[in-house]
Amino acid sequence: MSDACATCSGECCYDVIVRVTGYDAWRIKRAQALEFEQFLTIGPDTPSGPGAFTLEGERRALYLGKNADNQRACAFLMHLPNEVRRCGIYAERPRVCAVYPMTFTNGSVALRTDVRCAASNWNMATITYPFWRRSLLEHMFESHLYGLVAEHWNRSSANGGTLAQYYAYVERCFERIDARRSEVGKEAFDDLMLHWQQAVDEGATARVESFLADVDRLCAAQAIT
Ligand code: SF4
Ligand code: SF4
Repeated sequence: MSDACATCSGECCYDVIVRVTGYDAWRIKRAQALEFEQFLTIGPDTPSGPGAFTLEGERRALYLGKNADNQRACAFLMHLPNEVRRCGIYAERPRVCAVYPMTFTNGSVALRTDVRCAASNWNMATITYPFWRRSLLEHMFESHLYGLVAEHWNRSSANGGTLAQYYAYVERCFERIDARRSEVGKEAFDDLMLHWQQAVDEGATARVESFLADVDRLCAAQAIT
């Protein structure tokens, strides 16, 4: 959902299974003072994606739960009078929601081909391309970071590990990753995202590698307890 959605009734928040990253979940938990169990569900890693984690020998992924009043709707969709619907966690909504309905096509920001939006909602001639580009890069980079977190879990939990332990591990990792991100600063973090898959010089590549090495080290230090 975005400002362009003011006339829409939240079509993209119905009949969808919203796969989230541990970073999304950590942000929502912190901002809403919820427990992971109150808004997440665990499901199969299908289709497979970054951040799949192993529980009892099965590859699993994190999804948002469903609305208590309407099982077709996302748990966080607010049903207001006069058929108005709004995201109840707009500022912390998962990145996958924040980038909808845009995607990268051949490296350029473009409308997805499977959008549920009315054509009048999105005029590509008027959208702010740098904003969407940054949002899409952030989504991709955070998905990659969550993939690193899950990989560490999968290696270190080879002999077992419960969902409660996984949640606690995810929380510890993202507390530290987010703190490291704050130390780096917004401008430098944006630079990392930009150069993560588009190396332009050795300095930029070294900065990305250094940050990812920090993330790797921070995750490795979060032993399963
Ligand atoms: S988190 Fe918000 S934007 Fe995303 S599906 Fe749920 S209600 Fe919609
Ligand atoms: S379906 Fe499209 S216009 Fe409607 S809320 Fe979702 S992104 Fe906005």
